[in-house]
Amino acid sequence: MDHQVAPPLPPHVLVFPLPIQGHVNSMLKLAELLCLGKLHVTMLVSEYSHSRFLRHTHVHSHFARYPGFSFRTIPDGLPDDHPRAGERFMEIFPSLKSVTGPLFREMMIGTNFLGTGTRRPVTCIIADGILGFAGDLAIEREIPLIYFRTISACSFWAYFCLPQLIEADEIPLKGINGMDLPVKSVPGMEGFLRRRDLPSFCRVDEVNDLQLELFNAETRQSRRAQALIKNTFDDLEGPILSQIRTHCPNLFPIGPLHAHLKARLAADTNSSSTYSSSFWEEDRSCVTWLDSQPSKSVIYVSFGSLTIVTKHQLMEFWYGLVNSGQRFLWVMRPDSIAEKDEGQIPVELVEGTRERGYMVEWAPQEEVLAHAAVGGFLTHSGWNSTSESIVSGVPMICWPYFADQTINSRFVGEVWKLGLDMKDTCDRVVIEKMIRDLMDVKKDEFQERANHMAKLAKQAVSENGSSYCNLDNLIKYIKSMIE
Ligand code: UDP
Repeated sequence: MDHQVAPPLPPHVLVFPLPIQGHVNSMLKLAELLCLGKLHVTMLVSEYSHSRFLRHTHVHSHFARYPGFSFRTIPDGLPDDHPRAGERFMEIFPSLKSVTGPLFREMMIGTNFLGTGTRRPVTCIIADGILGFAGDLAIEREIPLIYFRTISACSFWAYFCLPQLIEADEIPLKGINGMDLPVKSVPGMEGFLRRRDLPSFCRVDEVNDLQLELFNAETRQSRRAQALIKNTFDDLEGPILSQIRTHCPNLFPIGPLHAHLKARLAADTNSSSTYSSSFWEEDRSCVTWLDSQPSKSVIYVSFGSLTIVTKHQLMEFWYGLVNSGQRFLWVMRPDSIAEKDEGQIPVELVEGTRERGYMVEWAPQEEVLAHAAVGGFLTHSGWNSTSESIVSGVPMICWPYFADQTINSRFVGEVWKLGLDMKDTCDRVVIEKMIRDLMDVKKDEFQERANHMAKLAKQAVSENGSSYCNLDNLIKYIKSMIE
């Protein structure tokens, strides 16, 4: 009689992002890359994120092709109608800690760490590096832990240096004086980092400010993990990655993840078609509008999923855009304007927008940035937006809103020279001038550098590229955990 021996079950990875759009987007891409590497994956998302997926996306049907993949949901502790944006975004952290943390523990222990007849109990937790409570459980139960910090390497490194910055009295920044002084306590950034480029939570009066303490503590605990994943690539952030390696030697830069996933899907399945994981309904009419615009003539404007602008800022942007005379596509989330104002919109803005502009509430951003008509991106410098712009070779104007964005924008403007940094101003004259510079006066020089970096990004995720090899090594490493 033939005895067929069942092949051993593959490793089972739990992927657990901070439940906000940017973090979920990049960790979902990582989850799919792990599925392509033949691992079992459980993606743990908040009930809120999951309900958004069900309402606006085909994430479920897309992932149905991976039998080893499943979703799990967990409450984030906030009421459904909580804005989860702007200043109130920070409320998610205490809520996750006090509500989600204990539920996570209960869920994991109560289900034998999600083990079933066809799946091992979780063999490795890949948690968002900002979710220290997930790390606590992994360490307590001796489950291998890998952190994924979804921000750029440059901002992670600045976060990492917060104790030295405090020690040297360079932070807290205490008001607006001295914002252009050079920062000396972030190794590798001497010479170009100014105080105003430090993460926004350094702009406080007291060293024991709650936000500063939170980011400091969560970053320092990153070293507890066996490995660290970054959504970046060597040619972009090599020197900073070397700095991080001195503290976190087991470092896997495998980005840009959205391009990496596309490349692997194309190689594995002959189809690079991905899916949207948007929390809002994508308005695809803007792609049709773009189809009828000349090559590289449109500046795309979006400030991501968390930014809230005041009515005054809104009007400055609007005048700047209209007065620049350039075509523009502007994403304005319905919940992104601070004050409800039923006032009249000045006729020149209405006219200028009708002639050269298009507005939507949410766009298929990766597709928009890859569109031939788009020649510039006015962005809040979130890391996903920055990476997506880099891959598509689109120069940027940066208007960072908070957190890591202030550092990303400095790197875009001063280190990579892929655009202009407009931080700390919001003036229609400056906006108009920067748009003209980016889209017209200095167009060729920015475009040349953007094309070059886009080429390097694509090489990094192609066979034998740095991120490609790092991902192979990461998968081998996860497999070695069960040997
Ligand atoms: N995004 C999108 N459509 C939009 C605006 C943004 O799909 O109209 C996506 C964008 O592609 C990116 C994410 O939302 O992947 C925003 O993440 P990012 O890190 O740039 O900023 P955050 O929202 O976290 O501030």
